Amino acid sequence: MKCPKCNSEIQTENINIQADIAQCNKCKNIFKISENIEDVIDDNFIVNNKPNGTWYKSDFNKTIIGASTRSPIAFFLVPFMLVWSGGSLGGIYGSQITNGEFNLLLTLAGIPFIIGSIFFWSLALMAIWGKVEVSLDNKGGKVFTGISTIGITKHFLWSDVSSIKEGQANLRYPGGKGVSLVLEGAKRISFGSSLKEERRYYLLRAVKSVMNKNR
Ligand SMILES: [Zn+2]
Repeated sequence: MKCPKCNSEIQTENINIQADIAQCNKCKNIFKISENIEDVIDDNFIVNNKPNGTWYKSDFNKTIIGASTRSPIAFFLVPFMLVWSGGSLGGIYGSQITNGEFNLLLTLAGIPFIIGSIFFWSLALMAIWGKVEVSLDNKGGKVFTGISTIGITKHFLWSDVSSIKEGQANLRYPGGKGVSLVLEGAKRISFGSSLKEERRYYLLRAVKSVMNKNR
């Protein structure tokens, strides 16, 4: 077990599980074990307990923690979208093209279907090839959500964020639980709502362990 404040090893004689209390010899910090149990998970545990679909790469100045958003929901979304967007867009725009007639009203009525198609297709593609990847160094980091290099990147400095926890997602993904990871502090960055629960929880613990080393 390590001190949540200074990260030095806690001596066994300074740990009292029954009283749920421990004290650090080095900085004299006294803390509740139960409240800090996630903070004191060591690197070996993080590296050796990766759930399927997650990765952890670390060299001396950079750590990359990632998880795939691959999900069986793709087996439903892809055929559904082929029918839904093929049917709606084909009906609205395909008929105008084949008939060679422009219909303004029909064209405008189709806009929500275009927006819907883009939105649901991006979900479907994320469920096949997507990933959430957090890159961290001693200054701060970034969170990428997308496919290959196409996606959304959110940057932060360690001074911007003080904690990471699970929170309410802004957007509920199909098949998801409506939970996301939230980096909080001067900045608030929400991510990972499209991840499976065990992958999201792994990201939470792994980012937290790197965060503790950079505070
Ligand atoms: Zn300490």
